[in-house]
Amino acid sequence: ETGLQGKVVIVTGAAAGIGRATAERFTQEGCRVAWWDVTETVPTGEGFFQKVNVADAGSVEDAVKTVVEKWGGVHVLVNNAGILRDAQLIKYKDGAVTGLMSEENFDAVVGVNLKGVFLCTRAVAPHMIAGGGGVVLNASSVVGLYGNFGQTNYVATKSGVIGMTKTWARELGKYQIRVNAVAPGFIATEMVKQMPEKILQGMVGRTPIGRMGRPEDIANAYVWLASEAASFVTGTVLSVDGGVVVG
Ligand code: NAD
Repeated sequence: ETGLQGKVVIVTGAAAGIGRATAERFTQEGCRVAWWDVTETVPTGEGFFQKVNVADAGSVEDAVKTVVEKWGGVHVLVNNAGILRDAQLIKYKDGAVTGLMSEENFDAVVGVNLKGVFLCTRAVAPHMIAGGGGVVLNASSVVGLYGNFGQTNYVATKSGVIGMTKTWARELGKYQIRVNAVAPGFIATEMVKQMPEKILQGMVGRTPIGRMGRPEDIANAYVWLASEAASFVTGTVLSVDGGVVVG
């Protein structure tokens, strides 16, 4: 028994990739799912879609209010929405600076991947407390554990999410709210498929299981962490990466 039947679940970034697979998996478990995305529509007739920018406090607060009015509370929040704006900190050639990571790209990624997680969790927490508990699940990444070339901004957010996860596990445990992060490896979504073939092959080469991850691999981890089977699991970072961090 997963204990998930009828639960109210918010999935951010649900229009594509891991978020879409996650919203679908929770729906299969009999949950009532609010699909949040900054894009206009979700590519499926299923579920209850809300246009939400997770980086905007007002947008998030309004959307939570709507979910609570519709379904009476929130049990599970999956903070999945995320963006990339890759660049090296500095490019330097022949005694001159030829490129920098822009402040704009640093702020944009922090706004969605870090502040967005903060805003959504802050908006949902009072309703979880009022309802006697809940589960918050945050999207980190293997790069949040090990760093990555060209991803100062993204890595800062994915490491930061781990810090927030551990902090909230401490602060919210007394309300029976569990907070965990998932650190996906290389998952075949639009975010990753845009990368050059050579890089993709290198990723598979560094993965002991020998393939790219699938969105469903991460969705399954979220569902397990949200379920009764994980009722004593909080403050953890679960790597779901085909072993890439040991490779
Ligand atoms: P994706 O680009 O396929 O989908 C991300 C979704 O988030 C999109 O639908 C997008 O519209 C939405 N989104 C972007 N900004 C938003 C905002 N401000 N408000 C609401 N929605 C917004 O990405 P993905 O590969 O499915 O990644 C999902 C999460 O998993 C991200 O947090 C990502 O950093 C993380 N992750 C992915 C990988 C991977 O290999 N794909 C690895 C590690 C971590």
